Amino acid sequence: MADTIFGKITRGEVPATFVYEDDQCVAINDINPQAPTHILVIPRKPIPRLVDASADDQALLGHLLLVARELAEQRGVGDGFRIVINNGEGGGQTVFHLHVHLLAGAPMAEAGLAPDMQ
Ligand code: 5GP
Repeated sequence: MADTIFGKITRGEVPATFVYEDDQCVAINDINPQAPTHILVIPRKPIPRLVDASADDQALLGHLLLVARELAEQRGVGDGFRIVINNGEGGGQTVFHLHVHLLAGAPMAEAGLAPDMQ
C-alpha cells in the first residue's frame, strides 16, 4: 500500500501532537476540525480502509473505539459524541490509513463529515 501522512505521523516522521498514544494507536486533533472536539484515532498498523481489515484486526478495531470513548469522557462529552469511519473515496475517505473520527461539541447535524450521506 502507499504510505500516507498518517503513516508518517504514527511513526514520528512528521511532527504531530499526540493527545493520546499507546502501543496500538495514536490520537491527534484534526487539522481541519468539523466540530469543537474533532480527534482522529489512528492505528499504528497501516490498514488502508475498514474493508481492508481482517478478523485478525478485531481486537484492534475494538481498541480504537474504546480509546475514542475514553477521549470523549476525558473531554466531558461522553454523553454526546459521534464516531465516524469513512471508507473509500465514495465514503468520503481522503487519507487511506484507517482512522476513527471523534466529533463532539456542536449540533451533530453540523458535525457530519459527509452530510450528503446522512
Ligand atoms: P477522511 O476524510 O480520510 O475520513 O479524514 C481525513 C481527516 O484527516 C480530515 O478530517 C483531515 O482534516 C485530516 N487531516 C489530513 N491531513 C492531516 C494532517 O496532516 N494532520 C492532521 N492533524 N489532520 C489531518
